[in-house]
Amino acid sequence: MGNLIVDGKRTDGRGLLDLRPLKLEAGTIKNAAGSSYIEHGKNKIYVAVYGPKDSHRYGTSMEKAVIRCRYHMSPFSTDERKSPAPSRREIEISKVIRDALESSLILDEFPKTLLDIYVEVLQSDGGSRSASITAASVALADAGIPMKDLVEAVAVGKVDGTLVVDLSDKEDKEGEVDLPIAFLLNENMITLLQMDGKMTVEEFKEAVNMAKEAAMKIKEKQKEALGKKYFEKVDEK
Ligand code: ADP
Repeated sequence: MGNLIVDGKRTDGRGLLDLRPLKLEAGTIKNAAGSSYIEHGKNKIYVAVYGPKDSHRYGTSMEKAVIRCRYHMSPFSTDERKSPAPSRREIEISKVIRDALESSLILDEFPKTLLDIYVEVLQSDGGSRSASITAASVALADAGIPMKDLVEAVAVGKVDGTLVVDLSDKEDKEGEVDLPIAFLLNENMITLLQMDGKMTVEEFKEAVNMAKEAAMKIKEKQKEALGKKYFEKVDEK
């Protein structure tokens, strides 16, 4: 403890509330119904959405579209060799991404269908689950799936006893608390909340507020990415 924040600056030069560089693009995979690409810090992630497609297979619902999600880290996404077999962590993250997005979507318009979300991590950094959620929501909007609002996610946490926004990989691993959160801002809802570590109730409340401010900034990037695909092309003509 004691070397992650020096004179109010973090190891990568950021202030306590600064996000890492964030780049988002919509419509990056032509075969998919909707797609996106995100660079958040050193994360590089593609998301492709297929469906809703009719299905009579076991697991479909008469009431709504059923979402399936696969989060996958490519074997070259980390400096350690990663087994190609799905790890426990990948299975967990696939589920939390699915759950974080489901409540944003209006799925009862598509009974007896499946909606597949593929998340492919090309390069992995801290907060890959949050970046995946932010990007997947853009891909779902790009696929034209009706939604209440976009979902955006960020990991806040505590390092050297101080609350910070958007943990880097080093802060995630060496800090005291990692708290990934996803927001459905228009509905005033939190759709993902995980916490690794301990903080006081007061710190927790402040951390959630800091994450919400960050989510508002991320939402602007999501809207820009979608706007770029759908509006700029029209303007150019
Ligand atoms: P998140 O990516 O959402 O922060 P974790 O906290 O579980 O998820 O992971 C922290 C970081 O650990 C990841 O960003 C990734 O860079 C690294 N990591 C995860 N799995 C592996 C692995 N199998 N090999 C090497 N590094 C990994």
